[in-house]
Order: sequence, then structure tokens, then C-alpha cells
Amino acid sequence: MEATFILLGTGAGPGLPSFFCDCVGCQEARSNPELARTRSGAFIDTGNSKILIDASPDLRRQLIRENITQVDCIFMTHWHYDHFGGLGELEYYVKLARNKAIPIFLPPSAVKQFTDAFPNLIEIFEVKSWEFNKQYSLGDLHLTPLPANHGIETAGFLLESMGNRLAYYPDTAGLPEASAAKVRGVDWLICDATFHGENWFPHAHMSIEQAVDLGNQIRAKKTVITHLAIHYSQPVTTNQLAEEVANYENVYVAYDGMRIKF
Ligand SMILES: [Zn+2]
Ligand SMILES: [Zn+2]
Ligand SMILES: [Zn+2]
Repeated sequence: MEATFILLGTGAGPGLPSFFCDCVGCQEARSNPELARTRSGAFIDTGNSKILIDASPDLRRQLIRENITQVDCIFMTHWHYDHFGGLGELEYYVKLARNKAIPIFLPPSAVKQFTDAFPNLIEIFEVKSWEFNKQYSLGDLHLTPLPANHGIETAGFLLESMGNRLAYYPDTAGLPEASAAKVRGVDWLICDATFHGENWFPHAHMSIEQAVDLGNQIRAKKTVITHLAIHYSQPVTTNQLAEEVANYENVYVAYDGMRIKF
């Protein structure tokens, strides 16, 4: 069976709209909540395995929206609040429905941060750490954490299912050469495009243009831009962004709830 990759959230740290912002994008998302962006995360359904990637502070709302009722394991890209802030949302799922701890694979350097941050959730999770470049087999799906450029220890995940390859890099500034070689020619590159206009954090994130260039550079068949924050640099509306991106071939703007079969 082919796997389904669901983008649970496609916004950057502040979300869209952001409560403290009145840019054109936030105004548009306030008047049309379908255009809102929750914080970034993803879910993979292989038919027999249900895998959560990151746990954004919006996790509860995302799982309800997508009718997700089961989580078998969790892989975390990195230890930033917009990616881990929703872990506590899984407490009552484990206590009332699953009745056993959920395996969570953390970056090795985040294990201590996890136990320091969530001493009351120790029994909810079976804590493990992933290793860069090691392939994890989850039923028919293979998942490999590859290094990203994000200031702290951060992975992108290469997912392989039935000969199809998808790379998910929500937070990265370009790719280390070795990672770029491993994701060369992927069917789908889903990557960080935090900035519209000038990139204020060039060592941690990409602009939309840089994300498109990265897709071309690694010869991705399709590039999906995500982790979008339009509050900084040059705010745009969703409609303006769609028009701009239409100029590029095989580039798509992610949206919350977007599904990709691979
Ligand atoms: Zn992020
Ligand atoms: Zn981050
Ligand atoms: Zn805004």
C-alpha cells in the first residue's frame, strides 16, 4: 500500500495569523480562517503504521481536523518550541486509550532537554534517540534522519516507500553536502521557506527563492514550500504568494491538511 504524508501544520513559529501582527497575510487569515497556518508538523499513514513527525503547539487541533485517532511512534526533527510544544497533548491519549507509552525518537542532544522540560510526561513516552544516517524501518516505510543546517542539532527525514522518495526538511538553511547527495532526485522535497523577501536568519532558515533553488539544485521532481512566515521582510497574502509561485515549475505552496501519496 502506498503511504500518505499529511502536512499537519505549515506555518513558522508565530503561526498565521499571529496574535500580535496585523500584516496583510494575518489580516487575510483572520477574515478567512481556511488560510490560517498552524505550526509545522506532519503525519505519515502507511496503512499499518501511524507516525507523527514533530508535535507542534497546535497538535490537538491538527489531529482532530485530520480525523487522526492513533499515533504509534514519534520522530522529532529538533528541539524548538514550535516543534515540541504539543507533546503534552498526547498525555490523555496514552492514559485513556493507548494504555502504553509511545516511542519517541529525539535528537540525541535533546534527551536531557526533554526530561528537564517534561518531568511529568516521563511515563507517557518511551524515550529513544535517533541516529543520523541510520535507516529506521516502520512496516513498508523507511525513515532516515539526515543532518540539516539549523544552528542546533536538527534532522530532515528521508522517507522511502515502495520505491518513492520524499524528503521533509521543515527547518534548514540549505543542506549539508552529504545530505543533498542523499536526497538527490527525490520525488518530493518539502522544505523550509520561512521568508518571503529578504532572509533575516540565513544560517537557520531559507527564503522562498532559496527553497526553490534548493529543489532545482538537488533535482527534486516536485518542491513543496512550507514553514512559511510571512510576517517578516515582505508580507504577502496567500493569493499573491500563489501567483508568484505559479511562475516556477513543479513548485507548490503547502497548506494545512495537504496530503501527498508516495
Ligand atoms: Zn520551526
Ligand atoms: Zn527550528
Ligand atoms: Zn502577520
